Amino acid sequence: MKLIFEKGAPDQHLSLLPACDVPEVSFKEERALPLRLPHVSENELTRHYKQLSDRVHGMNDGFYPLGSCTMKYNPKIDEELAALPGFTQIHPLQSAETAQGCLEVLHTMEKNLCEITGLDAFTLQPAAGAHGEFTGLLLIKAYHVHHKDFARTKIIVPDSAHGTNPASARMAGFDVVNIPSGPDGCVDLEALKAAVGPDTAGLMLTNPNTVGIFDKNILKITEIIHKAGGLCYYDGANLNAVLGVVRPGDMGFDACHLNLHKSFATPHGGGGPGAGPVGCKAELAQFLPGPQVEEKGGKYKFVTPKYSIGRVRGFAGNFDVVVKALCYLLTLGKEELPHVAENAVLNANYMMARLKTSYTMAYDTFCMHEFVMSLEGLHKETGIAAMDIAKGLLDHGIHPPTMYFPLIVHEALMIEPCETESKEIMDEVCDVFLQLFEEAKTNPQALHDAPLHTPVRRLDEVAAARHAIVRYNFD
Ligand SMILES: *Cc1c(COP(=O)(O)O)cnc(C)c1O
Repeated sequence: MKLIFEKGAPDQHLSLLPACDVPEVSFKEERALPLRLPHVSENELTRHYKQLSDRVHGMNDGFYPLGSCTMKYNPKIDEELAALPGFTQIHPLQSAETAQGCLEVLHTMEKNLCEITGLDAFTLQPAAGAHGEFTGLLLIKAYHVHHKDFARTKIIVPDSAHGTNPASARMAGFDVVNIPSGPDGCVDLEALKAAVGPDTAGLMLTNPNTVGIFDKNILKITEIIHKAGGLCYYDGANLNAVLGVVRPGDMGFDACHLNLHKSFATPHGGGGPGAGPVGCKAELAQFLPGPQVEEKGGKYKFVTPKYSIGRVRGFAGNFDVVVKALCYLLTLGKEELPHVAENAVLNANYMMARLKTSYTMAYDTFCMHEFVMSLEGLHKETGIAAMDIAKGLLDHGIHPPTMYFPLIVHEALMIEPCETESKEIMDEVCDVFLQLFEEAKTNPQALHDAPLHTPVRRLDEVAAARHAIVRYNFD
């Protein structure tokens, strides 16, 4: 596909601007170079962007089973409501009295999230999951410092954790202690007991974890940490599996973030915008970022908690994401919300049951919202790696699942179908997976060559990430 600068001709242009009706001012200094704009007609311009958008694969194009990412359908009604003028025609510096409706949205969302998580207070400021983790860890830090417990410098993170967990802990100034998972994919209790001590600031955990297993020892785990004087942080990115069924607060967690752009059906991918609200138990609420929304007699105002860690983001966070997420929540209501989790878990188990007739599961047990296959055996036998199966899927119009994560599983493919896919779609996708498995044995070269029908074939992903060309080279 040609780039826009390679299209058109010098005498073509768009004249969308009306004639100038104010005095013209020219800059004293001449530009060293003339302005280099594309020379295309409106027709060519719209075609160009349509072609670009055709090359993107999103939820509206087909199955998108990214494990650990919860790519589910985003109802269009949420977009329509978030676009209402009352939500878009406001200014963040407007006084609270003139934006009562928007403050009510924030307040209602905070209250709903408290109930869903079993926690006492929420901030909607953090812009993503990782940002929420960082904020939550600052709350834990503020708590220990407030109690003059300066020795607590270590955060315990299991080896199955999402990569953002140890990174956020380091960013917040903690040392990270890694503990191994047992063969069942759960936290090794003995390793946890050996790791805690007077230097333990807390634990970061997601449950179900990133291999899709709900840790049956969760109450014991949070108790071990509390007895040692630490606090428990819940990575709520996997909440889709337990929405309306189990609450982090009841599992013994003191703080958690949720990913509105995952569990609460707001679009994500390609960099956002997202929202990673952070909730906490009452004893941490006084450290939350400010301002928070407070309600008294039907009036809303902003207040800053007494020992606030300060702002973590400008204004009220990604407000439009909050509006969409609240709309999603209210559309489902309390009765329907648990069905999200139930169907997400059912779908994942359905696909797992069909695929394990050929593929090897990393943990051969019931899963929660996602499951991990290990292609190590297939790779040894046929030379076909997880990467080759992923590339083969592309020729069938299917977005590959998450590859090579979590790191504790070799040749991993991690599949999360979500509750919004039908049995018919999942059957089609399973048929393709099973067909590729046979192809690995009968015609491996075809899979080494895949993809054949995509705009580009196999790319040098490292070079693309390290040496991204983001500017047109005119010379
Ligand atoms: C997605 C995810 C995160 C990070 O969330 P971002 O919004 O991408 O920063 C953290 N933990 C888990 C388990 C996740 O799936």
